[in-house]
Amino acid sequence: MYSLIETKEMMVEIGRKLYEKEYIVASEGNLSTRLDQWRVLTTPAGMCKGQLRAEDLVITDLEGKRVEGKNKPSSELLMHLVVYRERPNVFGVVHAHPRTCTGFAVAGIPLDPALMAEVVVTLGCVPLAEYGTPSTEELADAVGKYIREYDALLLSNHGAITVGKDLLSAYYKMETLEHYAQINLIARTLGRVQPISTENVEKLVALREKYGVEGPSVQCPVSHGGSCPAGGPETVTMTRSQLAGLIEDAVRTITG
Ligand SMILES: [Zn+2]
Repeated sequence: MYSLIETKEMMVEIGRKLYEKEYIVASEGNLSTRLDQWRVLTTPAGMCKGQLRAEDLVITDLEGKRVEGKNKPSSELLMHLVVYRERPNVFGVVHAHPRTCTGFAVAGIPLDPALMAEVVVTLGCVPLAEYGTPSTEELADAVGKYIREYDALLLSNHGAITVGKDLLSAYYKMETLEHYAQINLIARTLGRVQPISTENVEKLVALREKYGVEGPSVQCPVSHGGSCPAGGPETVTMTRSQLAGLIEDAVRTITG
């Protein structure tokens, strides 16, 4: 258990790392950590997260109301608070715009077929949350829709968010996510992406259980058009009678 001052120092240090790695530029990005049942420590709005001091940080309640600190809390705090409401076991949230995973978010491509064994174990599937205007309920709702099942999300035309049991673990997930996006991009550039088979994904999930690792979902969200862990959103399996039923429904809708 870290003291408040140690927690603040860690947030300052992680802000500096994000900036040095160019996961954020200027005053982009934001961090938060849940201090207890009532309070959240967050980065201030409009300041460079690479050059923060401990006294720049802000403490708010779980409604986002400032309870300590001279600065305004992060403008994206709503999105962080949704995570804490939906995930009682999450104590750290990182939001950044690393260039490769944000490239996927801009291209509208989720990182959801299982491509790397270690990523299946640590990050699971990474869905693409629908676009929401930054700092509004719209973006918080888009995050809230997925974050119950996933630890890392791409935010359409915006960036990425990762969550963890503490701030450091959320930060490492952001590193893993960007590294994974870079490898994914290289494989796509080489012209071929080979997903891990469903059978092997199941073995990786079993491995997690064996070592007591609580992992996020490896299934693509239904809104991405599928639930197959390895096949990606293009793969849909159904029986002949299910297909006939779908066609009948469509015809009925068209003909009124
Ligand atoms: Zn952002």
